Amino acid sequence: MNLEEYKGICVFAQQTDHRLNSIAFELLGKGKELAKDLKTDVTAVLIGYEIMGLADELAAYGADRVIVVDGPEFKEYRAEPYTHALASAIGKYKPEIVLIGATAVGRELGPKVSARIATGLTADCTKLEIGDFPLHTVPDKEQKHNQLLMTRPAFGGNTIATIACPNHRPQMATVRPGVMRTAGKLQGRKALIEEFNPGYYSRKDTEILEIVKAVNETADIMDAKILVSGGRGIGGPENFHLLKELADALGGEVSCSRAVVDAGWKPKDLQVGQTGKTVRPNVYFAVGISGAIQHVAGMEESDLIIAINKDESAPIFEVADYGITGDWKKIVPELTRQLQAV
Ligand code: FAD
Repeated sequence: MNLEEYKGICVFAQQTDHRLNSIAFELLGKGKELAKDLKTDVTAVLIGYEIMGLADELAAYGADRVIVVDGPEFKEYRAEPYTHALASAIGKYKPEIVLIGATAVGRELGPKVSARIATGLTADCTKLEIGDFPLHTVPDKEQKHNQLLMTRPAFGGNTIATIACPNHRPQMATVRPGVMRTAGKLQGRKALIEEFNPGYYSRKDTEILEIVKAVNETADIMDAKILVSGGRGIGGPENFHLLKELADALGGEVSCSRAVVDAGWKPKDLQVGQTGKTVRPNVYFAVGISGAIQHVAGMEESDLIIAINKDESAPIFEVADYGITGDWKKIVPELTRQLQAV
């Protein structure tokens, strides 16, 4: 394989019902950073039906080029036609790096595409950077430059692995939603927009009979600007209304630790952490949460962290900007009362 033939960064711009998924902007943000290091550009691949209108938005968020695959067979996501389209686009444009969101769609699409084009894939990355990778597998231990170093938790979160793909191109990663920073939006920024026809896809391995939309009674905690998060220290589901009252007084939402989900006190979609969601609110209250590494991994990028814990040696205080030592049952209602009085 001639690695030199592969140039540029490619991000899969996931959309649903003509709306771009926020992961598309996060991948563009990261893609731009990597492109700066490699002195190259960023291409977004947009697949769907009647989605040309979304190309300008991708340009505004930093895409230098948008490749649009538009056809009725791409109206709803199905693995086979999307794999065909993305693998064909990669085959034609030969990017050196391909980034896909580790969403439900991306977790299926990424491995299928990497298998189709015979390259490796690092799944669910939480950090990506360009660097040197010492190749211990080659006799001269040559230092390979400008590799994509892909970092992800491994062995159930007990270790962090950094992986490179030195002998194949493209280097592919799926990226955890909520971890990378979105690049700023520059309205009116222009990109080269190209339509790409991957060739007629005739196979029909699957057929969509019905789409049942999930009815979500709670807001997505990844969108919240303020989160009041409760842990096992809350003591039971009956006490969470006190956190809700504080969240309401601040215009925020309630989230929780995994211990709370495992105990059946709150649903899984409110869980913050390595096996839950990665959040980056303006303010994160950690109430009755010890601060285990797997929890911290999902909230440490919050702008301001306020911890309330009765144990002054709880690890959560190490990442907190403000710490209050004491019984949350006294502190939280008082905080709510003061805020309501403002
Ligand atoms: P605890 O660790 O039991 O802490 C409760 C805290 O409440 C204590 O610090 C205590 O001092 C305090 N407290 C008790 N009463 C009061 C009171 N009245 N007032 C004030 N403070 C009080 N965890 C996650 O959260 N998210 C994940 O995504 C996640 N993924 C994981 C993945 C793997 C592979 C593994 C092995 C673990 C994972 N965990 C995750 C679990 C994690 O290791 C911890 O077990 C969990 O975060 C603990 O939750 P907690 O802090 O609510 O409970």
